[in-house]
Amino acid sequence: MTPSEKQPNLPSDFSPASDGFSSSEPLQAAAARSAGHATEGFVRTSRLPVSAFPHDRQSYRRINKTVRVLKFGGTSVGDVPAIRKTVDVIQAASLRSSVVVVVSAMAGVTNKLLEAARCAEVGERKSVNLILKRLRSQHSGAVNSLIESAEERGRLHTKLGVLFEECEELCQGTTLLHELTPKTRDAISSLGERLSAPLVSAALKERGVPSTAIEATELVVTNSNHGGAEPFMDLTTERCERVIRPLLRQGILPIVTGFIGATESGVLTTLGRGGSDYSATIIGAALNADEVTIWTDVDGVLSADPRLVPEAATIPEISYREAAELAYFGAKVLHPKTLRPLVRAGITVWIRNTFKAENPGTKITPEGSSEAQGLKALTAISDVVLVTVGGPGIVGMTDVLSRTFSATAAAQADVLMVTQSSSQNDICFVIPSSCAKQAVEALRREFSQDIEREKVEHITVDSKVAIVAAVGQRMRGMAGIAGRTFGVLGREDVNVIAIAQGSSQCNISFLLASKDMKTALLAIHREFQLGNVEVNATASVD
Ligand code: ADP
Ligand code: ASP
Ligand code: MG
Repeated sequence: MTPSEKQPNLPSDFSPASDGFSSSEPLQAAAARSAGHATEGFVRTSRLPVSAFPHDRQSYRRINKTVRVLKFGGTSVGDVPAIRKTVDVIQAASLRSSVVVVVSAMAGVTNKLLEAARCAEVGERKSVNLILKRLRSQHSGAVNSLIESAEERGRLHTKLGVLFEECEELCQGTTLLHELTPKTRDAISSLGERLSAPLVSAALKERGVPSTAIEATELVVTNSNHGGAEPFMDLTTERCERVIRPLLRQGILPIVTGFIGATESGVLTTLGRGGSDYSATIIGAALNADEVTIWTDVDGVLSADPRLVPEAATIPEISYREAAELAYFGAKVLHPKTLRPLVRAGITVWIRNTFKAENPGTKITPEGSSEAQGLKALTAISDVVLVTVGGPGIVGMTDVLSRTFSATAAAQADVLMVTQSSSQNDICFVIPSSCAKQAVEALRREFSQDIEREKVEHITVDSKVAIVAAVGQRMRGMAGIAGRTFGVLGREDVNVIAIAQGSSQCNISFLLASKDMKTALLAIHREFQLGNVEVNATASVD
């Protein structure tokens, strides 16, 4: 009986009884023990000879049973102690399955690279140089601390040096031309993952785990929508089979760059901010993996953003649908597209904490828990604007909706919420702030004649708003949830500007003033006792 059969709601590596570890033993301790260390405290394993580890290629082949994709986010590779924890987790997982790792850039690095790109565009050469100099020293500091072998350290410094030079050239070109194309922005912002993957791979090799860094430009084939590219799954599957599968057979653990891909002709693209989660599931689906685990800095998907609701609790199990709704409405823990590639195969996703690897985290399955009823979690997005197209003349303009949304689509604005009063005096919708300017310009162009003829009176934008979404697949058909939600908001004196509930009834979203967002989250969270593990514990039993 495998550990996961014994305890169906625990990740496969959580109760490694078959490997002789106790179920309460943290993964890191297990890894250290397997490497011949005492379990008390953490020992730096890098000084030990490679032969101290069971990680020769033969033992890899013997245990080549299942394929797991592990993704580590920015904080999990954010500094030297974090990378050591990440390597502990990878090492422990690799004792039980074939593992493919996807890594993000070190925390904050992508932001810095994008800042460098912006500075280059406006010709601020000095700022660009300063940013790149700091990034260089951050990465070489990490290399020096993590890598003991002088030879490997030298190789890594050379490799990272070449990558930095490439990025410097791109920034120089941008500075000279005063032009930043989406293609160049992608190339500059990709540097973080291209640096972190070789770093993690080398740190793993120091532990005696055969490993190689792979740029996802070799694996993830995308369209050319720079900054938000979409994968072609057939081509990606072919590449993953060709490049990754043989490595797994040989017992070599691939460390793949998250966030990036390339067009069929090899032009680098990025999948969008936070896109490494998506990279992991694209690769998981391409390899038909048994599981994908997203290792991050919180204990799973929580009942609300812990930065806003401190009493938020880990949800033991949720469905793809619920997780996707939460992600779409701002729960940063998952990129909104993360679950898409997995739908067909129904692959389980775990969200777990790299820094508390002993906790089981959240299990995301196609159906979710059959027991947990009602509202499960709250989420909120504040970087949105409310756009109103209005005026008495739009009554009876039958094409007003289609023209409005054609204009927003042309501006690539993702409409998050729509409401329209029955008199059709006003059409209100919510879009991300980042595309507000283009969307409003497109609307003004579309309705210019109607504005002249005073059929459309105004196109206004309110940026001081936020969407709060209450999510739960099994609140469908349960009377009273909306009533309780709005009742508590009334008692807290929070004014609701607009409401939307889809017919799927797994998400009630409402718009309120951004100043009320936190109050609303805290009040609804308390009302439904979402932080009470006891009340919601039924979800953990299959
Ligand atoms: P990573 O760098 O590992 O990809 P992110 O910063 O992208 O991590 O996502 C993790 C963060 O998401 C958490 O630190 C937390 O602040 C935030 N977050 C927002 N909503 C939630 C939620 N419902 N559950 C868990 N974390 C959430
Ligand atoms: N490094 C990228 C970002 O910061 C991708 C990721 O971390 O998921 O957006
Ligand atoms: Mg993330």
